[in-house]
Amino acid sequence: PSEEYELSRRRIFSNTKELWYYVNSELQSLVKEDDSVRVEHISKIKNIIGEHYRSLLKDVSSLADVDGHAVWRQQESENLSNLVQKRLKHLQNPSDCAKARKLVCDLNKGCGYGCQLHHVVYCFIVAYATERTLILRSKGWRYSKGGWQDVFLPLSDTCLLPNGETTNRWPGHRNTQVITLPIIDSINPRPPFLPLALPEDLAPRLNVLHGDPVVWWIGQFLKYMLRPQPATSNKLDEYAKKVKFQKPIVGVHIRRTDKVGTEAAFHKLDEYMVHVEQYYKYKELTDKVDKKRVYLATDEPKLFSEAKRKYPEYEIVGDEDISKTASISKRYSDQSLSGIITDIHFLSLSDYLVCTFSSQVCRVAYEIMNSLHPDASTLYTSLDDIYYYGGQKRRLHVAVLPHKANGPHEMNLLVGDEIAVAGNHWDGYSKGTNLRTKESGLYPTFKVSPKIETASFASYPDVTL
Ligand code: GDP
Repeated sequence: PSEEYELSRRRIFSNTKELWYYVNSELQSLVKEDDSVRVEHISKIKNIIGEHYRSLLKDVSSLADVDGHAVWRQQESENLSNLVQKRLKHLQNPSDCAKARKLVCDLNKGCGYGCQLHHVVYCFIVAYATERTLILRSKGWRYSKGGWQDVFLPLSDTCLLPNGETTNRWPGHRNTQVITLPIIDSINPRPPFLPLALPEDLAPRLNVLHGDPVVWWIGQFLKYMLRPQPATSNKLDEYAKKVKFQKPIVGVHIRRTDKVGTEAAFHKLDEYMVHVEQYYKYKELTDKVDKKRVYLATDEPKLFSEAKRKYPEYEIVGDEDISKTASISKRYSDQSLSGIITDIHFLSLSDYLVCTFSSQVCRVAYEIMNSLHPDASTLYTSLDDIYYYGGQKRRLHVAVLPHKANGPHEMNLLVGDEIAVAGNHWDGYSKGTNLRTKESGLYPTFKVSPKIETASFASYPDVTL
């Protein structure tokens, strides 16, 4: 398919969703609790619109598969992934480690596992862009004292030591042998190739392949990094058997405890389950669903009994004991590490994800999911944020339709305006700042399209498939 075809198809898909968000939220605002006739009428309209919506989504989705497009997409994603994995392997295994140019990072950023993985991905992206072997210092890791290699394969077979003739802090010089990198929050100067930028040489193909190509890109680094040690993969296999992990299954991640009220709002179980229900209704348009399953991952153990009690028609898969190791007081231990690796693994293997993207746990699961499918960019619902990468420069929209503000909380748009996006309110509107007018406010999401930024990275001309 051409880029034009793919972008139109995706635009129709996402604007079908936006229309549904808008109508649903407007209908909800018409509900008057003391008027039962009206409540019933609105609920009937909502049900019928839901049917229209799922049928439209299904038909648009089929346009991704017809005429050999599914086969093409599978092949193209494998080719691109093989190329990136080969480059990473080449970068990480220099023939002479004593002379190799290196980038050194410490694993132990003072935060949770998802946040630490994102820290390593950031280091790896800088290493890739500047063509330096990434050396990860991980002894004394807060999750496992022995370090990264307690659970994952080392990032190199030939080069793990941080020493060299000359060492300097970022940015150093091209011929400084070893450069140490601070965390993304304090990198200075900021290079242009940090997320959400895509490498120039791959961007044209990734834009055709994927609905949110930067997620695919980040997923490729995780794919390389998270190659499990044999003991880790054995544990995951045993766990899959123990909990009878089977499809169809929707991954639900519910982040509570220390996150709520500080970095994210509280969301009831029912808010997640609405979307799970929606997923299965959609699925039933094309497949017979024998059993509705949910893989539940959470740091709030009580949710297991709540889910089983309130949703008896569902099979709740997962492990309450794992969530007991996830609370802040037990978090940094081998046991909790094995729990979070397990939860992220099975969330990423699910058919669909429902979670809050304010949590790095769910964002990592979603990124890994996108390394397992040619394009999994539509297989999630986030109750709060849109996808972002901590420390990212910005996400851009570009206006494809003009807009005249309806009131002071909205902004004007001219076709071609670029908007730095703050978020989607999941009611038909997004919020952001118009880079031309400097105005901040709401605008209808269907009047914009995503804009992908690119940067110049090392291009590895000698590494080919
Ligand atoms: P964030 O704080 O949610 O953005 O994500 P982080 O990964 O940075 O820190 C949260 C930490 O809490 C995780 O790394 C886990 O150690 C723990 N945690 C949170 N949610 C879960 C969960 O669903 N399952 C497990 N096993 N641990 C969790």
